[in-house]
Amino acid sequence: MTQASSARPFRHAALRRWWSFWALLVVLCGGLATPLVSEAAAASSSSKKKSSSSSKKKSSSKKKKASSKSAAPKPIKPLQRDVVGPEAVPDGDYAEGETDTDGEGDLEEDTGDAGDPESELEAIERELLSQPAGPEPEIVYAEGPPPPPPPPVKPRSLKHVLIPGETLDDVARLYQVEVGDLAKWNGIRAGEPIPKKKKDLRVITTHSPPPREKLEHLVKRGDTWEKIAAEFGVDVAKLRQQNPRLGDKLQPKPKQKLKVVAWKDLDLSPSAALGTKLAQIRVRAGGLSIGKPNRGKLVRGVELPDRPDLYVKRKPDESYGSTHTVMQTLAAITRFRHESNFKGQVVIGGMSRARGGRFRPHKSHQSGRDVDIRLPLLRSAEGKRHTTSADVDWKATWQLMRAFLDTGEVEYIFLEYNLQKRIYKAARESGVSREQLDAWLEWPVKIKKRSNKRVLIRHVEGHTTHMHVRIRCGPNEKHCYSSR
Ligand SMILES: [Zn+2]
Repeated sequence: MTQASSARPFRHAALRRWWSFWALLVVLCGGLATPLVSEAAAASSSSKKKSSSSSKKKSSSKKKKASSKSAAPKPIKPLQRDVVGPEAVPDGDYAEGETDTDGEGDLEEDTGDAGDPESELEAIERELLSQPAGPEPEIVYAEGPPPPPPPPVKPRSLKHVLIPGETLDDVARLYQVEVGDLAKWNGIRAGEPIPKKKKDLRVITTHSPPPREKLEHLVKRGDTWEKIAAEFGVDVAKLRQQNPRLGDKLQPKPKQKLKVVAWKDLDLSPSAALGTKLAQIRVRAGGLSIGKPNRGKLVRGVELPDRPDLYVKRKPDESYGSTHTVMQTLAAITRFRHESNFKGQVVIGGMSRARGGRFRPHKSHQSGRDVDIRLPLLRSAEGKRHTTSADVDWKATWQLMRAFLDTGEVEYIFLEYNLQKRIYKAARESGVSREQLDAWLEWPVKIKKRSNKRVLIRHVEGHTTHMHVRIRCGPNEKHCYSSR
């Protein structure tokens, strides 16, 4: 990129025209929104034809200007916001009736109604890249607010009740203390066994050991130490140690009740461990969306982290997004994994490239805010090459959508109209009210009236095997533009 390109937009007639138009509007309207919407919408539609013809002239003049060095880059002004009237199509990826082989509703080529958008975007990109990326990495918390840090624990003195065969080493390890200290606290010489008369030990520690469970087994004919140890899930040697009075062979005399006991230190529950593992996912700050989904870029794109426990990335080099988008996507899918019984794959079909911009066959996916997700499949359909709506796990699909909706950061979800019926049904079955669904889905409004319904889950042709989720602009993204 040369410096010339940053200065070019200000020489460009269309942009100058736009700036003066904008300045005029500001003067005229003084911040009043209503007249601004209609005038701007009319102006932008009338300027489309002109600018597409002027873009040809521009490309020829580019070559001439590229050789001449320009002055220092001028300050960056914000991009034009698209002001959309109630009947207008919000943006490129949302084009009703458009067909596209890859399911990305393709509009006509972009018309440069904001002057020279490419170099404008590049200028913004350069400006943002020259600024620091941001503070500490942001963290997604899977469920609710972060847990408070544990209060500082003071060492306390406690009594440990010994079990048969337990050694100083065992106890020291259990409470994470030094063997020497433990011996000293109890008047035992280091290296010597615990005197037989001692039933308990004094321990000074900040550490709480895992709970200990006592297990009992009444010996039956044919029982062996190995068999009982396996049944308890404990070590055979330990089990022998804990039952010093029983011999090698477990042969109860007639009418004798022979009991084997074991003490087992319980592990933390697997679900608790899973919760901790999922609770914090670090997401790099500074990934910023600029421009619009169908004409934009991505600054310091954040790669969706590899989390095979959550999802599979079909195209890793097209799995970049803004920090905000990656955070919301992780939060939604993590929540879905917690709350749903769905055990199959969540496949991320595509997001944006590391620096955003256009890539075929997508029309949008340019600014790091779009995420294509394959509709979750029934177990029987996993691995199928071609799937139909009968192969989709609609309950899981609804749960996944709901997890995204609940982030409060979804701008749209695209899904074909006739499939919304399945979502409607699954959502109703899970107890969602008709009123709530009416605010989310186009279904069951008749097709002709559909376009008047401004809802989050929308029909766009081609979204039959995947849903397309668009996340809103993040709180720090001042160059990111929504379609409304
Ligand atoms: Zn898409």
